[in-house]
Amino acid sequence: MTVVDAAAKPASGASGLPVGLFAPYVSADNNFTSQICAVGVQFTQRLASRLLVEGLDWQPSGVMSRKYGEAERWHADAGWIKPAALVKACLAQANVTWRGHCDVKRLSRDGDSWMLIDKDEHILARADMVVIATANQSAELLNTMSAAPKLIFQAVRGQVTYGNLSAPATAETSTYPINGSGSYIATDAEWLVGATYDRNNLSLDASIRDQVDNFERLENLAPEIAAQLKPAFERGLVNNWVGIRCATTDRLPIVGEVLQGLWLCTAMASRGLTFAPLCAELLAAQCENDKSEELPLTPRLVKALSIQRYMKK
Ligand SMILES: Cc1cc2nc3c(=O)[nH]c(=O)nc-3n(C[C@H](O)[C@H](O)[C@H](O)COP(=O)(O)OP(=O)(O)OC[C@H]3O[C@@H](n4cnc5c(N)ncnc54)[C@H](O)[C@@H]3O)c2cc1C
Repeated sequence: MTVVDAAAKPASGASGLPVGLFAPYVSADNNFTSQICAVGVQFTQRLASRLLVEGLDWQPSGVMSRKYGEAERWHADAGWIKPAALVKACLAQANVTWRGHCDVKRLSRDGDSWMLIDKDEHILARADMVVIATANQSAELLNTMSAAPKLIFQAVRGQVTYGNLSAPATAETSTYPINGSGSYIATDAEWLVGATYDRNNLSLDASIRDQVDNFERLENLAPEIAAQLKPAFERGLVNNWVGIRCATTDRLPIVGEVLQGLWLCTAMASRGLTFAPLCAELLAAQCENDKSEELPLTPRLVKALSIQRYMKK
């Protein structure tokens, strides 16, 4: 399998997030997102435990949910992951080749195969089966083909603020993540708080306003930790990271075959760490003569994730 990527190094998109949460999602009506997350966390943990170093790249630590007006709730099927470590570990598997600096501008059918073509009309790669997983750029790639469904994604900018656990000393910070209106994570060496949501500004430059927002988020979520980290914010001993999420209007990913041999697996929104390993397994099952019924997903959930919801009836 060859992975072609416009970027110079792996995990340069939203997956460059320093550390993120995988967690169940509780809703009053146990909606599709909740049901898919409940399965997703299992697949994420299975993949992480196979490929990553526990305690360093990920931790099935559980997560404390603190939502305004609700009692605290403990989720055992949850934890943190460094997404770039997961991406690199996936790419390091046997029979996977990664090629950077391959900015695909359009796809074209040639006999039984697909050609991936750059802006100068050079053929970057040719394959019988192609999976588009280019987040917001997936819509542009599909839109170059008249037979493909027209997709519109919401690009949502987010900024997280993070720092070193020892600068200044923050010995008493929580050892498990806290999730509510925003989230706080402490890993082996760092803490992180976030994230902002912004649809009107898609700049990748960090903003001080968002850093202040993240501190206020932490004050609401965990005032005791905010008090400890206040000196780090005041002395500028913090870093910021900005990324752009890719979301559908229903906030569910899209998985499925768009045209013969051309597949889509994208729009992970704010839950790529909970959704992506499950979506990858679903795609693999579907292209193997549709073995998706072997996955712990009901047909309704498979349909909720399907590209079919964007196809003309
Ligand atoms: C601030 C912030 C906080 C977040 N926190 C969490 C969290 O706590 N938990 C969680 O689960 N999720 C979180 N997310 C969401 C998570 O980061 C994403 O869902 C996930 O990383 C998406 O992965 P992806 O591979 O679909 O997209 P990306 O990681 O964006 O990858 C897209 C890839 O496509 C490549 N590409 C784009 N266009 C082209 C092209 N034309 N040709 C070739 N290659 C191309 C890019 O170079 C990139 O490598 C957060 C996101 C942000 C921004």
